[in-house]
Amino acid sequence: MLMILRLSLVLLLTLAFPATFAWAQWVPAECADTDVACATKAGQDHVVKKLAFWKRALSLPVEARMAAAPPELVDFLRLDNIAQSIQNRPRVPVLALEFEREAMAAFDELPRAVKDQLATKLVGIYFIEDIGGTGYTDVVYDPSGNPVAGFIVLDPSVLQKLTANGWATWKENTPFKASADFRLSAEIEAESQDTRKNAIQYILLHEMAHVISIGGNIHPSWNVEPREIASFSPYPFFRLSWKHSQDRNSYVSLFDGAFPQRKDVVYYFGARLPAEKMVGTYENLERTNFVTLYGATRPGDDFAEAFASYVHTVLMKRPFSIRIYHNEKQVKTYEACWNRPRCAAKQQIIQQLLAAKVSAN
Ligand SMILES: [Zn+2]
Repeated sequence: MLMILRLSLVLLLTLAFPATFAWAQWVPAECADTDVACATKAGQDHVVKKLAFWKRALSLPVEARMAAAPPELVDFLRLDNIAQSIQNRPRVPVLALEFEREAMAAFDELPRAVKDQLATKLVGIYFIEDIGGTGYTDVVYDPSGNPVAGFIVLDPSVLQKLTANGWATWKENTPFKASADFRLSAEIEAESQDTRKNAIQYILLHEMAHVISIGGNIHPSWNVEPREIASFSPYPFFRLSWKHSQDRNSYVSLFDGAFPQRKDVVYYFGARLPAEKMVGTYENLERTNFVTLYGATRPGDDFAEAFASYVHTVLMKRPFSIRIYHNEKQVKTYEACWNRPRCAAKQQIIQQLLAAKVSAN
């Protein structure tokens, strides 16, 4: 019964788009496919970055803010890809109803404390094809230019054929060059729960953490240049792992001396680490307070990975392990660090965040 109601709601939302997002003045920016400067400028001033555009979406219950993307958002993703010289050209998806239903079920199962954090900050979860990744989150600003909310984009085409463990194993292998001798497998669900819905749920948790961080005191915004941040005292979570590089143009981790592989950890595009370094990389990761290897790549993903892992393993009691095999013999197991000393300070901040009452404004 509940599922039928949910399904109708999705259909209703999908059909109701022009009314929900109508923005009379909007005209798509006419930037050529290679015009980085035009796309960068048009992206910065884009209508989807303004809170007013999402007013009606925000008036819906948080569970109902999910549907195929409005054309304005597809246009923004296209401009963002041009600006970053990413070849993919985002488009409105031909949505399989099954995927939409699974995404909604994945959201429904999340703990109340997570949904409460999102009620005033999440303008919605929207589906766009060929974005150049699985998930995407960006900031929405109020009329004074303060970062106050965010949107999440999911690409249904990437997830079409993947289950939770298949997706996690693929992702966690991407920093390492292929090898006949070494392999790595990731488990984020028990075999009976290894579904696409649960892959969507884990990806959503990571993207939701990015939304929760917007306008908060977790880490400096990813839209602000590091050299423009004068003090890190407003960001206690960030300070547990990061500092300015010597030239202040980037952030480096507090552990780089003992964790030399970190600078070569690149996910998705172009593996830099030889597979023989899998074991050493994970052994060194255990000497830091990063929750996952992806979390060691940048401050925003440090928090997103920690938050997703905490909710997934501690609150939702799901598994998380990385297993490394050498010639098919298991040589290393890496597990979540919650309730262990190395992650205690991050755990405390996440617990406080989830316990805090979120004021509706
Ligand atoms: Zn991320």
